[in-house]
Amino acid sequence: MGSPLRIVNGRVYDPANGVNGAVQDVCVRDGKIVADVPPDAKRIDAAGMVVMPGGIDIHCHIAGPKVNLARKVQPETHRDDVQLRTRLTRSGTGGTVPSTFATGYRYAALGYTTAMEAAVTPLGARHTLEEFQDTPVLDKGFFVLVGNNLLLYRLLQEGRREELRHALAWWLKVTKGYAPKLVNPGGDEMWKGGRNANITSLDDKIGSFDLTPRRVIAAFIEAGNELGLPHPVHIHCNNLGHSGNVETTLETMRLAEGRRAHIAHIQFHSYGAAAGKSQSNPTSRARDIIEYINTHPNISADVGAVMFGPATIMTGDAPLAYMLRRFGSNKWVNADTENESGCGIVPFKYQDRVYTNALQWAIGLELLLLSEDPWRMVFSTDHPNGGSFMSYPRLIRLLMDRRYRKEQMAHVNQKALDQSALRDCQEREYSLSEIAIITRAGPARLLGLTDKGHLGVGADADLTIYEEDEDKEKMFSAPRYVIKDGELIIEDHELRADHQGRLLHVAPDYDPQIEQVIEPFFEDFYTIRFANYPVDDRYVPKGQIIPTTPSAAAAPATAGTRP
Ligand SMILES: [Zn+2]
Repeated sequence: MGSPLRIVNGRVYDPANGVNGAVQDVCVRDGKIVADVPPDAKRIDAAGMVVMPGGIDIHCHIAGPKVNLARKVQPETHRDDVQLRTRLTRSGTGGTVPSTFATGYRYAALGYTTAMEAAVTPLGARHTLEEFQDTPVLDKGFFVLVGNNLLLYRLLQEGRREELRHALAWWLKVTKGYAPKLVNPGGDEMWKGGRNANITSLDDKIGSFDLTPRRVIAAFIEAGNELGLPHPVHIHCNNLGHSGNVETTLETMRLAEGRRAHIAHIQFHSYGAAAGKSQSNPTSRARDIIEYINTHPNISADVGAVMFGPATIMTGDAPLAYMLRRFGSNKWVNADTENESGCGIVPFKYQDRVYTNALQWAIGLELLLLSEDPWRMVFSTDHPNGGSFMSYPRLIRLLMDRRYRKEQMAHVNQKALDQSALRDCQEREYSLSEIAIITRAGPARLLGLTDKGHLGVGADADLTIYEEDEDKEKMFSAPRYVIKDGELIIEDHELRADHQGRLLHVAPDYDPQIEQVIEPFFEDFYTIRFANYPVDDRYVPKGQIIPTTPSAAAAPATAGTRP
């Protein structure tokens, strides 16, 4: 946990506690922020530097079967970006989908200390947890794909809402997941059942089920809220990437009816359709989306910004990957996980002269620049979908430095800018405090991580110390110090210690009777036996259960006893 430490002379940005650039000491002991440490404690002189909580990525793709598939399909990118072994660190490869060890080191070197893998099939949980063990420094959790799950569809179709809630709790608990994730609900079932078929609206019938995406989404929002999960249902809406999808996105947010819901990578869901001949061209409807979010405190989103350069589309949305394959390089992969989800991978490059790519870039910036509540519109590139996490410092500069933003705008496809409102947001520049909110304090609050994203007494001692610089990209590219659980991991910009982060997961209670509903389905339809399905504790050498606060209606009379 490291020895006691006092950080002095730094300008502290701790928006959750109302600290906005004040010069004050921060003390650390036994992995936590404390009020004071003995006078002989080690000191870091942070004069001329900025002290923030460690970065928290609320939505990224860093581990598990689909990530590994994306690594395998692009061996050429490994050769170009080799991470050599050092006395302290393991070797690895980079590119847009770095190997496990490289992922941990590189996030840490940017000042990040927590990351959430955003899409894992229940059957992929073991693989994900094994990769997490090889992803150093970061605390991690994962969102479990449940929006195309056939047994959950059956329960919902038969109106068995309570059992749906217990089954959802069971799935989260036995996989050691963090939150339920919906990806294009119904899309995989359509894709499996018909040639190149997909969902086109919330009211489409889902294959042979007497269900619609509208019913599925509403039911999961309700169940997630009743279970009192620390993070609500995390939704990748239907129609991702399609012109005119803004209506689907707005309708999805309305389904929450005041209850909490999180919309993932909302940039990809903010498109209008051009009129007349160029109907298939998207336009920006960022204003409509951000206006809805600004005025509905129950809704949160991460932006899913697009950055120019190489990326890798990786998604549980199989029909989407099929559509995008035409725009990628000449490789793509589609895969299916029995009863649970689809998956697609497309290596991709965003180009500033291409109309659609430039529009996507502009919409991401528009959403952030028009947002009135940084606590609920937080930072992401949906790594590596909109760009690598390595591009975060450049995105921060685009938000903080309007001159730089203007220069960049001059290089991109101007027709795309004509279709966006980015030129109307020229004035705004994010402050350091707002950056601290969208990259740390906000994600922590949305994830329900009360010990993270702030520097109050009792918080996890995850900190980043940046040298102040006019060039914000440079400043955020290489922090001078990074502290994880009170241990000095980065010192003078270099990795000085290895560290194993924790798995953050939930363990909601459920009625044990639900296992008698689930087990026969396994015997009939799964290739794995029911008894072998739950992930046992050996997969979690270091874990932390984040508590749930179920509503009275959802608390079972007797709690489940399985792991
Ligand atoms: Zn994603």
